[in-house]
Amino acid sequence: MKKVLIIIFGFLVIVGIGRGLLKVPAIQDAALERGTAAIAKRGAIPLPESESLRVYVCGSASPLGMGQAQACIAVITPEHFYLIDSGAGSTDNISRLGLPISQLDGLLLTHFHSDHIAEIYEVNLNSWVQGRPQPLTIIGPQGVEEITNAVNAGYRQDRIYRTGHHGADLLPPALGVLEHKTITQGVILEDGDLTITAYSGEHPPIEPAMGYRFDYRGRSVVISGDSNVNDDTMKIVDGADLLLHDALSVPTVSALSAALAAANQPRQSKIVEDVLDYHASAESLIELSEKSDVDMVAFYHLVPVPPNSLLKDVFMRGAPDNVILTEDLMWFELPVDSDDIVVNRP
Ligand SMILES: [Zn+2]
Ligand SMILES: [Zn+2]
Repeated sequence: MKKVLIIIFGFLVIVGIGRGLLKVPAIQDAALERGTAAIAKRGAIPLPESESLRVYVCGSASPLGMGQAQACIAVITPEHFYLIDSGAGSTDNISRLGLPISQLDGLLLTHFHSDHIAEIYEVNLNSWVQGRPQPLTIIGPQGVEEITNAVNAGYRQDRIYRTGHHGADLLPPALGVLEHKTITQGVILEDGDLTITAYSGEHPPIEPAMGYRFDYRGRSVVISGDSNVNDDTMKIVDGADLLLHDALSVPTVSALSAALAAANQPRQSKIVEDVLDYHASAESLIELSEKSDVDMVAFYHLVPVPPNSLLKDVFMRGAPDNVILTEDLMWFELPVDSDDIVVNRP
């Protein structure tokens, strides 16, 4: 017993000394030097060379976020880098994932709900500061011109400040101004081995709400944006390897709506109940996984993000192994000349 007490006492003394040392400026400076060197080194490491289609979850949440970033998916090949939506918190995740933001080829928007467009300017600013060599193009359905013009106008002063501070050589003013491209459904881009196809989702009353399919050297991923599962969904996933789809847990959302009503919060209850009919239920996506030949279905834009294992289990009731929940910073690797889908968890 005496020995145990001596060990505990010794441990506390060491911890106390350690804490005390961290208050000494010279020790702090040494730690700061090591920490900043590690951060700088990490930022300078390019993505590993790989012949694959890669898909990164830079935002897995809906407005019911529970600490996760809102809608954002990055699709990267050895030659291309596109973002699909840029919800709140997503730019921070792009940095944490170490994605090469200066090489961003374009930002595709599925629709213009705030949880999909909140960080358009942050993406623009970060890629501009990191040396993007051409203006960033915002690609989306009818309405994208209005959004792009509004962001350009709203952040005009910010661009003037940035260039005024760092100089036009480092931040050329023309590269800070967003461009736009309005698309309709069908093939919207062919660039080398990459084809991007837009399809129309079902997210009433939002019209149009798009989703996108990426095909690269025999590998493919579909990103839904916000949508119910319908015939267009079934067509676009035909032959696809991976589907990232917005997903709603009906038992959780229904329970939340009922609880709010019982707690005399009718406004909040109605708002939660209204969400039920314009996102794909987990059940409908499980059915899709059974009826289609898509290899893997990954839920994102989670309504709501399940905060614990019990609610994860509720969300995933009846799901087979090839239907999974995403979380921020998860990423998928689809090597060319292979059927593999490697799931990397943070
Ligand atoms: Zn939406
Ligand atoms: Zn949304």
